[in-house]
Amino acid sequence: MNDSLNRRTKLSAVERNFRSRIAQLSSGQWFLRGTLSERSGTCGKANCRCARGELHKSLYLVQSQAGKLRQICVPKAWQQRVRQAVNDYHLMQKLIEEVSELEWKRLQEKKR
Ligand SMILES: [Zn+2]
Repeated sequence: MNDSLNRRTKLSAVERNFRSRIAQLSSGQWFLRGTLSERSGTCGKANCRCARGELHKSLYLVQSQAGKLRQICVPKAWQQRVRQAVNDYHLMQKLIEEVSELEWKRLQEKKR
């Protein structure tokens, strides 16, 4: 059986739109699964401004991997890229889910 997409009956405009957004994202973006957490704290140096209440802000990426939580501090220079990658991961996941749902419906119709 070779029922590839190319040989399949034509797709709806909605589905073509989902698929072209997936193609654009997958070829042009970074992806990162996880959630971002902004934290503030002290560095421990007695004469630092944080000891007087001006806390250091840092951004952490938190991810569940093989059932365990892991986290990493995101350096300033990477924050914009990482925020974008986390957003694009979510968007990609949503789009793939939409396409999967359409295929699910096709399968349901076949069985009726
Ligand atoms: Zn400090």
